[in-house]
Amino acid sequence: MSEKEDIEVLKEKVEELLKKDNSVDEGKILQAFIENKDGENLFSFLLRNYVHAVFSEEEAIEHWKHIVLNSEELSKKLERPVGITLALVDYFTNENRIFDSPLLVEVHIFKQTEKLAMVDGLTGVFNRRYMDVSLKKEKNRCDRYEKKFSVLIIDIDDFKKFNDIYGHLFGDRVLQITAQTIREGIRNEDVLCRYGGEEFLVILPETDIEGAELLGNRLCKFVREKNFLAENKITVSIGAATYPDFGDTEEKVIGEADKALYKAKKSGKNCCCRASV
Ligand code: GH3
Ligand code: MG
Ligand code: MG
Repeated sequence: MSEKEDIEVLKEKVEELLKKDNSVDEGKILQAFIENKDGENLFSFLLRNYVHAVFSEEEAIEHWKHIVLNSEELSKKLERPVGITLALVDYFTNENRIFDSPLLVEVHIFKQTEKLAMVDGLTGVFNRRYMDVSLKKEKNRCDRYEKKFSVLIIDIDDFKKFNDIYGHLFGDRVLQITAQTIREGIRNEDVLCRYGGEEFLVILPETDIEGAELLGNRLCKFVREKNFLAENKITVSIGAATYPDFGDTEEKVIGEADKALYKAKKSGKNCCCRASV
């Protein structure tokens, strides 16, 4: 059999294995497998989804050949069909000891934990760690495709007064409402993160400084008009800067947005200022 035919047979066998397990998540992976069947890196894609480990496509093909063989033997011994989960666990822990202490965990619990690691507990927006990873990714994407992105740093005006007058819990509520209001005012592809205490940062893919400033002013208005506390309105000041126009690293761009935020504070707060070259 040629190598190409070999791979086709392997695909069929892996698909059979996938079909024997029928949890919701396996359903999704099976769907992705079928859609991706003629794509490149199918086998490493599958292992990444199932065991969260990265292999080259050649390594992955070797693993899948063994996994299929192993599942056939297991099935004979157990005298019942063996699905993908059991086949993978047995192969990676007994046949090929790549994992020495795997943990069996419900997928939804795993996803919850994954989410907790990325999200700020108080406001539900992305945390600082996720922000750093996203910025790096966005910068690399822009370098590759010669695109730009902008950032907005948003700081709540006179936030201390909410804490001082109404208490810390009330301050927390103000943070939650502000985060929610900002989220409602941005696009799905924009990434909203908690940057620090009462500061947020939004990453705006494919957005120049004009677009960023426009959105910044719109967000100021949006927050101001939120009828939360009639006598003590929440307002925000915003600084905007763009990569690569205002700096050749994400840190420099954030630094410029910070300076612009300072300008906004100096000019009376409740407004957005853009970075200047
Ligand atoms: P400005 O208009 O110049 O931005 O003044 P400000 O009062 O907003 O800024 P300042 O930096 O003086 O105060 C920020 C306060 O935010 C200080 C800190 O105690 C409070 N803070 C930081 N994180 C939290 C939090 O998670 N919850 C609450 N309730 N307060 C927080
Ligand atoms: Mg601040
Ligand atoms: Mg503030």
